[in-house]
Amino acid sequence: MVEVTVSTYGDLHRVFLQGMMSRGIAGGKDIKELFQTAYEQSQGPELDFENKDIYVKALVDTIKTINKELDSLGMAIVKAIDEDYAMRGQHTYYVLVNRDDHDVGEKLAFKAMPDFAPFELEYTRHLVDHIMDEEERQIEAISALHLAKLVKAKKMKQSEGEATLDKLVAKKWLKRNEDGNGFIRLAPRFIAEMGDFLDRRYRIEKCYMCPGARGSGKRVIRPVVCSDCGQHYHRYCIKSDACPNKKCRGKVQDGAGRKRRHARSDSEEEDSN
Ligand SMILES: [Zn+2]
Ligand SMILES: [Zn+2]
Repeated sequence: MVEVTVSTYGDLHRVFLQGMMSRGIAGGKDIKELFQTAYEQSQGPELDFENKDIYVKALVDTIKTINKELDSLGMAIVKAIDEDYAMRGQHTYYVLVNRDDHDVGEKLAFKAMPDFAPFELEYTRHLVDHIMDEEERQIEAISALHLAKLVKAKKMKQSEGEATLDKLVAKKWLKRNEDGNGFIRLAPRFIAEMGDFLDRRYRIEKCYMCPGARGSGKRVIRPVVCSDCGQHYHRYCIKSDACPNKKCRGKVQDGAGRKRRHARSDSEEEDSN
């Protein structure tokens, strides 16, 4: 039975987890291929991968089973939706995250990025600081490259900044927005993995529509905001530009008028490398 195959830890889960470990993040076609390959290798009973409800249920149940195993390691596979889109479907990802946050110092948080040298991590911290200081939470590529000169761990050339930036985008920690103006933003992988770090270091809004939220819900990095009641929302949580807060008749808009307060502590500035 499919139920047994997905809910009893076995080959399916091992192969799928290995795939997630090498990718870090997967969504859409990529995760379907990974899951289908792992499923077929496990020689489970036939599963109709073209039936979305059946496929997604099997995928979610498989991830639940893996997460039970990963729990003792302080790790989990979590869902992350790209905040830049109004539609969830194609923009939903799964991210393998380290939840071990009993001592989330800044350095420790960035240890989740093992492919990066210390100077690259320092550069990344500057990038993230500058992205988070901007009202729209994005910076131009050219400004991103200028930040290389702030790095203290070594004299970082602009070309090394460029290479690091490319690597951060390739590994899906950061993204360039798609309409061609090249703004650099935090990608779903960064937001999922570094959530605790973001909460500690910056002033982060919560989406008023996310389940169980009402002000204490899921963080939103690039919200749309209601000009009347001031509530923040994920683009994918609202259906139109009418504010979904029942007590309000306002309209939501793209972060405009949002006050971005500088919310990071300066002590961490000293913390180079
Ligand atoms: Zn939301
Ligand atoms: Zn409102």
